[in-house]
Amino acid sequence: MTSTDASLTQEESDTADDSNTPYAAKERADGKGSLKPVIDVIPAAAYDNPTWKGLAYFGRDLVVYALVVTGLLLFNNPFATIALWVLSGMVISGLFIVAHDAAHGALFSSKRMNRVVGTIAMLPSWHVYEGWVLGHNRIHHSYTVREGFDFVWHPYTVEQFNAMSRFGRMRHRFEWSWIGAGAYYLREVWWHKMIVGDPPARWASAIRRDRIIVWSFVGVASTLLAWAGWVQYGTVLGAAWMILKVLVVPFLAFSYVIASFVHVHHVQPDIRWWKRREWTKFKGQMEGTTVLRARFGLNFFFHWIMVHVPHHVDMRIPMYNLELATDAIKEAFPGTVHDKPLRFRDFVSNTRACQLYDFDEGHWLTYREAAKITAAAGPVAETPAESVSA
Ligand SMILES: [Zn+2]
Repeated sequence: MTSTDASLTQEESDTADDSNTPYAAKERADGKGSLKPVIDVIPAAAYDNPTWKGLAYFGRDLVVYALVVTGLLLFNNPFATIALWVLSGMVISGLFIVAHDAAHGALFSSKRMNRVVGTIAMLPSWHVYEGWVLGHNRIHHSYTVREGFDFVWHPYTVEQFNAMSRFGRMRHRFEWSWIGAGAYYLREVWWHKMIVGDPPARWASAIRRDRIIVWSFVGVASTLLAWAGWVQYGTVLGAAWMILKVLVVPFLAFSYVIASFVHVHHVQPDIRWWKRREWTKFKGQMEGTTVLRARFGLNFFFHWIMVHVPHHVDMRIPMYNLELATDAIKEAFPGTVHDKPLRFRDFVSNTRACQLYDFDEGHWLTYREAAKITAAAGPVAETPAESVSA
């Protein structure tokens, strides 16, 4: 896994030589490598983003978030608390998806407004606005499903897995399971990239400023909640419980939601991850993601984030126009778009089928299949493998 720094350095050196590989050049000659023909079929109306509409979604989600926080402050019934935690994960995701659109410059025409609304909407999820712009817009979107570049749910190979320590392999099994997805996101993406990652000099001061904003929010909110807990319970434990209940658990609930969302966006048996030189924009953005239709009114919170192919074709399309753009893309490129209903059980079965990856053959493997490959390859030296950490 490359660090943010390394990815960018690689990016700069790669843009020049990439066009020279015969594979990429052939794809382009066939007209398959570029996204331009896809962008051309998206109707102009899909780019409409009136200010009132962005503000309305932001305002509505803020109100729902405030109601959930109030509920968590007032109710102590365990069933109510659990239900409110589930709701908090959903509404913090809603706010985050609003912020995600702002970070892409899709929510408002004004850059300043995008930054202000995006920064605020990312606070309950403890996300750093400029850090997100760097990791998500510049790296994930530029190199979706490309080996060594895209870093979210980037697959590990059988060799990498075998080289892990026993603890590393156990952690991989947990983090890549449907139940452990949130832990993966928290450690590998949020902590390593967003919070402690060392960004390139160009963005360092903006990211430092936004990290201060996020930690100030967490600090002030914790202080107020500790005070509210003290008033309500009169004990230090009560004060700590209030912080946990209203601030920390909702953040963890959100982490699980975003982890599973990004997983279903880019990991499933039919999605191929590409070796560096075989990747093209078309493969990354048209074939490297999915359209999953949320049912039961879930778009109230999910804001069409699951309609993900057009978002990867052109990040400037606001969330509420993604279905319109999908219709146009599907008509012009029949059979290309992976379009299915969103179902939790598909996420579960994806995690069971997609555990390790073979970049040479271009397909996902289960741990069991990987073990067979390892056994067939014959005995390997044991000690060096044990000493390498994950
Ligand atoms: Zn995006």
